Amino acid sequence: MDTSTKSPKLVDKTVPDSKPKEKIVVKKPKLPPVILSNINDFNKVQEVMSSQNIKYEIKLLNNKQLSIKVFSEIDYRSLTEAINEAKFEWHSYENKVTRPCKVIARGLHPTCKPEIILNDLKALGFNVLSVVNITKKKKVNDKQITDSLPLFTLTFDHSEDIKKVFSITHIVNTRVKIEAIKKQKDQIPQCKRCQRYEHTQSFCKREARCVKCAGSHLTIHCTMDIKAPAKCSNCHEAHPANYRGCMVAKELQKRRLARKKVDVTKPKQQKVSTPKLTRGVSYSDVARNNTSGSASVSSQVKKSITPKGKVKSNKSFGKIQTTPKRQKSPRKNKSNEDTFMTKMFTKIDEISARLAKIEKRYEINYNGTPRSILKKNEY
Ligand SMILES: [Zn+2]
Ligand SMILES: [Zn+2]
Ligand SMILES: [Zn+2]
Repeated sequence: MDTSTKSPKLVDKTVPDSKPKEKIVVKKPKLPPVILSNINDFNKVQEVMSSQNIKYEIKLLNNKQLSIKVFSEIDYRSLTEAINEAKFEWHSYENKVTRPCKVIARGLHPTCKPEIILNDLKALGFNVLSVVNITKKKKVNDKQITDSLPLFTLTFDHSEDIKKVFSITHIVNTRVKIEAIKKQKDQIPQCKRCQRYEHTQSFCKREARCVKCAGSHLTIHCTMDIKAPAKCSNCHEAHPANYRGCMVAKELQKRRLARKKVDVTKPKQQKVSTPKLTRGVSYSDVARNNTSGSASVSSQVKKSITPKGKVKSNKSFGKIQTTPKRQKSPRKNKSNEDTFMTKMFTKIDEISARLAKIEKRYEINYNGTPRSILKKNEY
């Protein structure tokens, strides 16, 4: 074969790996990617990256965002240090390998100082990182008060023996019960720093956005009047950005659930092409179904889940009629799924239309509004 003269890169792939193996550990769980935002000049990124002696791969998410993948913990650290120094805006995700272990201790008096608990656990030989009392907010006579609960979150280093943690029966000579934290697994994570979804503040170096006023500051630095109406930085409606009823949150949440449902219930061939949620795509785009080119998401889904020739063209998705044959089909579960998907995507269409209207309205308002922060917002 003389393919070697054509494309050395291709040949590299086909030639058996005769080189001595590199230090990269393949079996380790993947390191999370680092997402750079607001990139206006790729060459600046290239400059920083080439100054580092690390192995990496760049994936273009959109013209403003890049995803950088590295292959070792050391390189990950070098990368984050370098981009911090270069003052790039970026975020990443929790590394599942080094994720600390969290449990709840039930039974300690709510006023017990966390430091006492921490020191007690350390004296017992535990590699404990933090102890935090769990509180609950409640309204008394129209005033919001914070109530301490007899519950403490204990965070241990990832290397800690989890069995040993669960066998703890006493802390500060008080009988306790160690409980696992119930994870709201299906809830889409939201960053408390930038208010965007799919990542958390511990891994965010993006420009801060206030949960109350959508301004470019951390929420704790907000000077807005407490009675002034809130403004969501994701949809610009009058609610705090962490409101789970926000149309952006609901839309992303729906898609997350749809992805899960599809993964669990659909055989591979029938897999519905749920809109691909490229990290970094604008939420308005998501809600407008603009994430994957010109064709609308709903129309893609229509194609993929509806048997050929059974959709009446130019009708809204909600009015799709299946043939009588199909209705008599004994595969009840399948048609239930279709109905569910039909309803869901009709709803998405409605939300998209609403969002489009709102955006239109706000564009008009923004032009007359001198608030520079609004212009910076992507959504
Ligand atoms: Zn963030
Ligand atoms: Zn604010
Ligand atoms: Zn909102």
